[in-house]
Amino acid sequence: MRRLLAILLFFILALGAGYGGAAWWNSRPGPELTRVPSPPPGGFPLYEIEAELDLPKGIITGTLTLSYRHAGPDGLSDLVFNLLPNILHPAEPPLAVLSARVGGNPVQPVTELTVLRIPLPEPLATGQRVRVRLDFQTRLPPLPARLGYHQDVVMAGGWYPALAPYRDGEWTVFDPGRGIGDPYYTESANYRVRLLAPRGVDVFGSADEVPPRRSGDRQEWFMQSTEPIREFAFTAGQFRTHSTKVEGVEVVYAYPRRPDDRVLDTAARSLSMFQRLFGPYPYRRLVVAEVPLRGNVGMEYPLLVFMSSQETFTPFTVAHEVAHQWWYGLVGSDQVGEPWVDEGLANFAALLFYEKYYPTQYNQLAVDFRQRSAGMNNFTSPLGVYSDERTYRERAYVAAAMSWHGKYQRDPAGLLDGLREIASRHRHGLITSAEIEKILEF
Ligand SMILES: [Zn+2]
Repeated sequence: MRRLLAILLFFILALGAGYGGAAWWNSRPGPELTRVPSPPPGGFPLYEIEAELDLPKGIITGTLTLSYRHAGPDGLSDLVFNLLPNILHPAEPPLAVLSARVGGNPVQPVTELTVLRIPLPEPLATGQRVRVRLDFQTRLPPLPARLGYHQDVVMAGGWYPALAPYRDGEWTVFDPGRGIGDPYYTESANYRVRLLAPRGVDVFGSADEVPPRRSGDRQEWFMQSTEPIREFAFTAGQFRTHSTKVEGVEVVYAYPRRPDDRVLDTAARSLSMFQRLFGPYPYRRLVVAEVPLRGNVGMEYPLLVFMSSQETFTPFTVAHEVAHQWWYGLVGSDQVGEPWVDEGLANFAALLFYEKYYPTQYNQLAVDFRQRSAGMNNFTSPLGVYSDERTYRERAYVAAAMSWHGKYQRDPAGLLDGLREIASRHRHGLITSAEIEKILEF
């Protein structure tokens, strides 16, 4: 997510001049493509979502069935969901949960604006499973937002109720968003999503491509994760596409009218570079979709990146969003309590991309970032501390990236080995800054 920064970068990059220099990691061996993470003790939850997209009304009506195995201590009395659409748009909450069932039996949920508590008929013991079914409806706000419907394009990020992260015996719930940063985070899960959409509408979701099937006057899109994903997002609209293949991954650039020639190339090169730096990208497709997003230049989702057709972006932003496939997607973090972790790492990764492919601009950018972040030690603040977007970005994006960059300049091998270690050890998990510190020995 970037706005002011990207505009500033645009001007900075347009002025580019300076010197080059071979990136240290160029001499590194290729990625180890066989490392397989071990699943968490409870296994990953499974979301099965059947949904219908009603256009042009902009309404998603769906049924979500969550299969959950409890790995915590005996006696879990409820399951808690975060109502992501209502966190994103609390003033006019788009999501309503219409009914709930546990193991096939109706239950009465306790609903607040952004939280849904499902009481369990019997306490769940360690290792026991439960299936919860929710009928819901999401009215897409008619806005150029990450969850919105604008210029005939559906942007569906955070469109369903998501199981709250369960940490240290507690469900993590979130306050209504304030329009700054990412106001929620989720735990990785497996997904099977069946989406009915009008014919003539293309759908790109957080899944490998499956050709749509005709279903009456509509089309049915079946999208399934082949490996756990952080959350499931999609976009629907009319797109043209360019694509290329890199190391077995199909990289797709979906655009509405005119392509920006830099996007596909940047996405493919950064994907390849970050695989080498941070470990394998385990999915078979990555889609960069240009959508009418305003306020954010880009927005990251698993296997899917939104780039704004309304804002000016540079290759730096594309690389930043691709880097989120590792720092947010594969390795999750508390984006509300510690937003500097994923944003700082994504920005640092984009700097490394520039070091290799745009050395002139890289040097200027490093100087600019260093000046802007001089003396700024408080970049580790939680999201709630920031009262404006600009300060948030200067700290969580720029100052945090420069903290990584400082370590990189002192000990590039140590830092990158450490980050690879984190990406391997915490794949599909959530990491805290304390764990990062332990591994990297700050
Ligand atoms: Zn970001």
